[in-house]
Amino acid sequence: MRKFLRLLGISQSECIHCQSPAMGDLFLCKECIQDIKPFHPIEYTPIPYVFSYRVFGKYEGVLKSILQQIKFSNNPFLARWLGEAIKDHLWEFIEQTNPDIITFPELNLRRFWTRGFNQIEEILKGAGVPYQRVFKRVGFDPPMARLDKKKRIKASQTHTLREEWIEVLEGKKVLIVDDVLTTGGTISRLCELLLSVGAEQTHAFFLTKEF
Ligand SMILES: [Zn+2]
Repeated sequence: MRKFLRLLGISQSECIHCQSPAMGDLFLCKECIQDIKPFHPIEYTPIPYVFSYRVFGKYEGVLKSILQQIKFSNNPFLARWLGEAIKDHLWEFIEQTNPDIITFPELNLRRFWTRGFNQIEEILKGAGVPYQRVFKRVGFDPPMARLDKKKRIKASQTHTLREEWIEVLEGKKVLIVDDVLTTGGTISRLCELLLSVGAEQTHAFFLTKEF
């Protein structure tokens, strides 16, 4: 298996975080793998339009190295592996919030084409979490004209809702999964968008928190 992965150029013998010998087919050494566990305590300051949220760990150390490697080395396999590693923590929050819909922010087109995959989608696959694609990026598509709820939709700066979801979200609990929480601006706008079409509750799960 390792040889096969090497042939594909997606395996390496050194830990991506500390350069120690990596474990088997993985990209990390034993110590760094053991470092991947929920970090406590995380400071939970309220985010507007977000009913509740959960963070797995801080954006530092091994988690930061993994997320950077996923983003900059086009490594969907590592994203799936990370999903597997954090799945208990994520599922705990899913059971707690009991969402009807689980979704994630979309990449802009340029980033999607250069990377070829959405890292959150791969992480959710790795964690065995069923998801829907509720959002789309604001960009080349024509605006959502002619739709009844148009006036109620406050378009966020970067995202809008896929048309087929606009009438469906009413009364629904939605969980958005994202990789890094920084200011909370993006998640706040996405949740405001969901609430503007009648979503009942909005929750968020972040793999990491900056600062
Ligand atoms: Zn290491």
